[in-house]
Amino acid sequence: MNRLIAILEDELDIVELVSLHLKRAGFGVEGFQEAESFFKFLKKRIPDLIILDLMLPDADGLDICKYLRRKDEYLSIPVIILTAKGDETDKILGLELGADDYVTKPFSPRELVARVKAVLRRREQQKGSRVIEIGGIIKIDPEKYEVTVEGKKIELTTTEFKILQLLSSRKGWVFTRERILDYLWGEEKAVLDRTVDVHIRNLREKLGIAKGLIKNVRGIGYKLEE
Ligand code: CA
Repeated sequence: MNRLIAILEDELDIVELVSLHLKRAGFGVEGFQEAESFFKFLKKRIPDLIILDLMLPDADGLDICKYLRRKDEYLSIPVIILTAKGDETDKILGLELGADDYVTKPFSPRELVARVKAVLRRREQQKGSRVIEIGGIIKIDPEKYEVTVEGKKIELTTTEFKILQLLSSRKGWVFTRERILDYLWGEEKAVLDRTVDVHIRNLREKLGIAKGLIKNVRGIGYKLEE
């Protein structure tokens, strides 16, 4: 089956041009010009990748990105952001909020197709490897519930392990405290945001020389960066 790419972009010319090139490359394509119809579609089908324009008439692309990363059902859909030329802040924020790549307008459709393929390829590779490696220092074995730092096993609590696993599921992405709490306790969470800070502090301490890989993003949350 063809892999399905969803495009959310208010300029019809761009939607058509990108669709044409993606279809030629063998992808299925669904185009949307506003967020509302896009979200209706998402409830019915999960695309293999989303191309997201940041400036939309009825929504902010960055908010959409943030929203997708909070929802378990959408969390793993790769996102490529389309951003206006020279808008560095948007690019950086987009990547921190969980986009996989960005393309600056005006862009060549061929380059965009190449980026789509690259992101999908990267995702496939990530799925294939069982043990997660971070910065060549930390190794996480999700099946054995085992973490090593430079080959030495460290003892983590279940909560600490889960936090580390969540952060490492998308390296470089920022996870808000809210998102971490959701992941740990779901709807039952009756704990404060601060609890996350305490667990992270303990986790960092146990990681020793690798503790610097977990970074605090002020006012937002935490991320794991190589
Ligand atoms: Ca636009």
